[in-house]
Amino acid sequence: MTKHSTFRRIANIKALFICITRRLAFALLGVFVTPAIVNAEKSSIADITVVSSIKPIQLISTAVMGGVGQSKVLLPPSANPHNYQLRPSQRALLSKADLFVWVGPELELFLVKVLGSSSVNELSLTNALKLGNAEPVEPSLHQHHHEEHDEHSHRGSFDPHIWLNPALTKQIATTIAEQLSAQYPALASQFQLNLEQFIKQLKITESEITQLFSGSKQVAIYTFHEAFTHFSDHYGMKIDGTITKTPESRPGAKHLSELAKEIAQNKKICLVKEPNFKAPYVDSLTRGTEVIVTIADPLATNIDNSATGYFEFITSIAKSFHKCTL
Ligand SMILES: [Zn+2]
Repeated sequence: MTKHSTFRRIANIKALFICITRRLAFALLGVFVTPAIVNAEKSSIADITVVSSIKPIQLISTAVMGGVGQSKVLLPPSANPHNYQLRPSQRALLSKADLFVWVGPELELFLVKVLGSSSVNELSLTNALKLGNAEPVEPSLHQHHHEEHDEHSHRGSFDPHIWLNPALTKQIATTIAEQLSAQYPALASQFQLNLEQFIKQLKITESEITQLFSGSKQVAIYTFHEAFTHFSDHYGMKIDGTITKTPESRPGAKHLSELAKEIAQNKKICLVKEPNFKAPYVDSLTRGTEVIVTIADPLATNIDNSATGYFEFITSIAKSFHKCTL
């Protein structure tokens, strides 16, 4: 029942997309809304609230909103989105949102059930971008599965950390802009302008990162959890292994001993740790091998929420990985 209502909402959103595409076409033909109308609408919707599930998505929403309304975040900065339980105050924030943006069941599986019993207007990015696993998850079955194996997220081989690939970030920003334009048509041209500015700066940041990596040779890279495949693929880097699939699950003894053997074959490796998760078993894996330790935070914990926050964030990830190069 839950998934059906979610899909019905998504179908409605798709219908709205078609609608807004037409509107944008008109705008491009020169049928602009007059500033007076925009201002009237703006003052009446100054209190619109967009809630994003996690900080990196909030940074993208903030840039697209460009000062219209409020861009808030659901999960506290250091929370693990793979496995979380909402507090009553967070449920209240969610229910008051005019739009709720989340990655999708591939990352925040706990939200499937929450959204199933909520009437909030939601936008799942993996769904909108047609990424991730095609088949929906039955929440009740899943809950059961989770208790038994604790391997609930990262189903299949899909890495849900899509915001770490600037090419996908461009699509995420576009999708959010389309959704907001559909909800607030009089502000469509403003959201479009914000989006264009964001994409322009994204291109500049991407070329700076490409420049940073150019000509550098990397050592074998091992990341703490499977969060950086989108980033490394986009910039043509290789990740040699991950310690654990999800931050909260301790890897099996077999995986750890295989990993230790593999690591021992290298004279020098780079270990990408995360600030929010401590895993004492990691250090024993690297005995006898020279290790460069670098810290990369896929959740943008310490980045201020601003229209330029995403660029600061992705640049900080790039600088962390740059430490793995010679
Ligand atoms: Zn993760």
